[in-house]
Amino acid sequence: MLEARTRDYVEHRIRAGVLEHGTARLLEDSGVGGRMRAEGLVHHGIELRFEGQAHRVPLTELSGGRSIVVYGQQEVVKDLVAARLGAGGEVRFEAECVGVDAPELGKASIRYRAGGEERLLECDVVAGCDGFHGACRASAPPGAFREVEHTHPFGWLGVLAAVPPSTEELIYCRHERGFALHSLRSPELSRLYLQVDPDERTERWPDERIWEELRRRFATEDGWTLAEGPVLEKSITAMKSFVAEPMRSGALFLAGDSAHIVPPTGAKGMNLAVADVRTLAAALLEWYRSGDEQLLDDYSATCLRRVWAAQEFSTYMTRMLHPLPGDDFGSRIALAQLRQAAALGAASTHLAERYVDLCSV
Ligand SMILES: Cc1cc2nc3c(=O)[nH]c(=O)nc-3n(C[C@H](O)[C@H](O)[C@H](O)COP(=O)(O)OP(=O)(O)OC[C@H]3O[C@@H](n4cnc5c(N)ncnc54)[C@H](O)[C@@H]3O)c2cc1C
Repeated sequence: MLEARTRDYVEHRIRAGVLEHGTARLLEDSGVGGRMRAEGLVHHGIELRFEGQAHRVPLTELSGGRSIVVYGQQEVVKDLVAARLGAGGEVRFEAECVGVDAPELGKASIRYRAGGEERLLECDVVAGCDGFHGACRASAPPGAFREVEHTHPFGWLGVLAAVPPSTEELIYCRHERGFALHSLRSPELSRLYLQVDPDERTERWPDERIWEELRRRFATEDGWTLAEGPVLEKSITAMKSFVAEPMRSGALFLAGDSAHIVPPTGAKGMNLAVADVRTLAAALLEWYRSGDEQLLDDYSATCLRRVWAAQEFSTYMTRMLHPLPGDDFGSRIALAQLRQAAALGAASTHLAERYVDLCSV
């Protein structure tokens, strides 16, 4: 395992936080679920808030007893690094991949830079898990991947605040001023997001402006209040949908964000990355055990079915919850979808099933 950053950096990088039912179960089954079980927050519902009203979607009730776990991605990273090192494995930090040559199974190499020197790692296969901006996808021969992408015309201003969450479950809020999300990290830490222009800058968002905007968007007719506290971190994320097809070139297998990006509204990014790795690990085990390449040959098609299902769900959630200036028709359609999703009928069940457990299939 080569990682460009330091261990401390990756263990404190704040990103996703919603683990699907299947992701949490996989961590448990892999023997790395102990801290998640103790510290993660199990949620049985989410709230949809629109037109000043709160509507609870009872995820567990609608999805045959399944639930999500709110547990920060950086905590998952800590648990995985500790498990790998604890098992005598090696993780080389501050080792940056600069190129991959992987023409066929059993014949691959990674060029990487560490300690000021360029080095070569020879290997059977390369799992390209180096994110959207990593070197793996870019190293494949020209034309190896067809890239399909869509950029959404807004971004998210994300805030980590030292204040107990004002809610026990995530609140997805559509307001005419823009989308807002109230998420949680722990009993003392809140994670909040605001829809902003895609080229917005954090300098233009002093803490007071953030709280004022959150208060306006989350306001309900029954006087719900938002607790405020010190902002520990803020950042702006662009909203992009992207897929590279197929997810394999020779002995290079792309996994996670190196192959696909989803807008975070559906909370699928980390879950998809974990699901790719689950599929790839099973295929590699089979190949090493029996020499049978079939599962490796199926890897891309198996993952892409799931990836496009997640793209569809993330796009549905994103369009339903984010108003666009001047798009009155789109707004009416989105409100009609929200009313259906809140009505606890088939649309709510469809939302709940996909929110809770889309990536384990
Ligand atoms: C700011 C932000 C907020 C997000 N919020 C959410 C959210 O709320 N919900 C959600 O579901 N998803 C969210 N995501 C998406 C989610 O975090 C990703 O989908 C997930 O991290 C994908 O995992 P990955 O392992 O594929 O990629 P990454 O987590 O990006 O891991 C790739 C790793 O490769 C390393 N690397 C990169 N290049 C090289 C190189 N050349 N050599 C060696 N190592 C390299 C990187 O340092 C990194 O550690 C967010 C992403 C960002 C950036």
